[in-house]
Amino acid sequence: MNEFGSVLENVYLKKYNTYGIGGIAKYMVFPSSEEKLVKLIDYLKNEKMSWYILGGGSNVLLPDEDYDGVIINLKELNNYEFDKDIINAESGISLGKLVSVMLDAGYTNLSSLMGIPGLLGGAIIGNAGAYETSIFDYIISVKFIDEDGNIKELNKEEIKYDYRWTEFKEKKVIVLSAKIKCINGPVAEAKEKIKENLEKRRKSQPLEYKNAGSVFRNPPSHAAGYLIEHSGLKGITVGGAMVSEKHANFIINFNNATSRDIIKLVELIKSKVKDVYNVELELEQVKVNW
Ligand SMILES: Cc1cc2nc3c(=O)[nH]c(=O)nc-3n(C[C@H](O)[C@H](O)[C@H](O)COP(=O)(O)OP(=O)(O)OC[C@H]3O[C@@H](n4cnc5c(N)ncnc54)[C@H](O)[C@@H]3O)c2cc1C
Repeated sequence: MNEFGSVLENVYLKKYNTYGIGGIAKYMVFPSSEEKLVKLIDYLKNEKMSWYILGGGSNVLLPDEDYDGVIINLKELNNYEFDKDIINAESGISLGKLVSVMLDAGYTNLSSLMGIPGLLGGAIIGNAGAYETSIFDYIISVKFIDEDGNIKELNKEEIKYDYRWTEFKEKKVIVLSAKIKCINGPVAEAKEKIKENLEKRRKSQPLEYKNAGSVFRNPPSHAAGYLIEHSGLKGITVGGAMVSEKHANFIINFNNATSRDIIKLVELIKSKVKDVYNVELELEQVKVNW
């Protein structure tokens, strides 16, 4: 597989996701261009090898079991170019880098997203957002490999998306790149606001521990964190996993948690919140089964 990009063998997945969990993957490939990624997918199909796409690993709940397949790591697919007020960026660019290059060019419209870890592809899959801005507010079109292996580009209007959800989340597609609208604004003010937002995150989120962001989507009634906290669940543990004392919609890996610990804790939270509030919490994080 070296012809498609660098290849690692027997990879400890703990190093590749922000929860710090998971087994060993037989291979990890870092495609070095879009063309090579497309060829890699063809190759894997012919060889009947299974594959899984990983971005920054900041929204996944990987299994403890080893993976007898290929993890495709997109971090080297990170080119971008501006065309007037549009940036066309590959899916492996980090969200932080994307916000920075836009700010350097005088565009402030994505600055609320600074502080969200991970890569653009992951942000598109889950319509990531913060402080009243979501990535789909500014998406113009998304280019991807569909489930039959064809390259497609869809305009935003043709894609189903919602709060922290897109139809891509439920399909085996690969986001290659996206065109994003750029809007000029006061850069110095935006940078000040970013500092404030990062400080808010530091104060309200358990960033000192391994975690994968919000565990559940916010239901219409109350924030998930409120429901979990008021169900008396802050600080409860299963094995090495704990409901954060700082923010109840975060599960932290405080002591070598396994995926099983986190999943048991997720189930416990869901059932307690259902008992107390009659609300069915839905996972925001992606629970992966090999
Ligand atoms: C401390 C912390 C704070 C966070 N704050 C926020 C926040 O404020 N707002 C928010 O929305 N999220 C937040 N998150 C969650 C997470 O950072 C985002 O969901 C992020 O966009 C995920 O990107 P990723 O590259 O890490 O995706 P990954 O976790 O690598 O992948 C997520 C899913 O997308 C799939 N995927 C990834 N890239 C592609 C691709 N190119 N093509 C097809 N499928 C792909 C994966 O297979 C997986 O199913 C936070 C997480 C942490 C740890």
